[in-house]
Amino acid sequence: MDDLVEPQKPDIVYETDEPILYSVKESIATISMNRPKYNNAQNSQMTYAIDDAMRQAVDDDAVKVIILRGEGKHFSAGHDIGTPGRDLHKTFDRKHLWWDHTNKPGGELLYIREQETYLGMCKRWREVPKPTIAMVHGACVAGGLMLAWVCDIIVASDDAFFADPVVRMGIPGVEYFAHVHELNPRIAKEFLFLGERMAAYRAYQMGMVNKVVTRDELESETYSMAERIAKMPRMGLALTKKAVNHIEDLQGKNTGMDAVFHMHHFAHSHNDLISDDNLGGFDAKSMAASQRDQDKKG
Ligand code: ZN
Repeated sequence: MDDLVEPQKPDIVYETDEPILYSVKESIATISMNRPKYNNAQNSQMTYAIDDAMRQAVDDDAVKVIILRGEGKHFSAGHDIGTPGRDLHKTFDRKHLWWDHTNKPGGELLYIREQETYLGMCKRWREVPKPTIAMVHGACVAGGLMLAWVCDIIVASDDAFFADPVVRMGIPGVEYFAHVHELNPRIAKEFLFLGERMAAYRAYQMGMVNKVVTRDELESETYSMAERIAKMPRMGLALTKKAVNHIEDLQGKNTGMDAVFHMHHFAHSHNDLISDDNLGGFDAKSMAASQRDQDKKG
């Protein structure tokens, strides 16, 4: 096949074999992202580990509610775009029927990879038939937003903040484009155009977060809510979740995200054409520096 390319073989150094921690206590499963050294940047190693943990929680009849949280200072700083464990060019045992991305040319590589790892996985987790709660502290940025948004309920500490700064890269938001379902369209535009941090309390006022509590109370409040939900019948919860998701999809959430995914990929390819870099020349450090600059001017 002449349209295939030699896969890149970058050195990948994983700092841990346990990118997530999984535990079950009574009827609550906890999935905790465990790359605190990198603010829980999401690499594929972590993505597939989250998926395995979701599977385990779904299969365990004792589990009624799933909590997604992060170790360390932050919930998640987003997708891994530059740690030693960035594994963009690695092949994994895929969960959808897309082919392997690593030996594909041009825009195909990233398109296939993000169909599987970002859009596909997030849609999959959104449909987990048990209630999920994101317990958010610190940063919940870009790819981190996607992880919180796929959960049914978001409880945040008052030091949490939310941002999608990828317009800076010339990209119309992260791959899972739920922005206009999480926020009203005018606020979503402000959120994206400026890329600035939205504090937990404002996210609560906008209806994106269910509850804001102090950092000290975050765990007890989140688990208390989970325990109360867990008293409801399994099938009642599953059907109720399906009902709400179904109505959201009738309002265009799923098809809208599919459409915008292609704009997102036009942007990646456009960046490649004009600058030879599908992230517009940014990495995690330069993104943070550029945002600090903007925040100072604001
Ligand atoms: Zn992307």
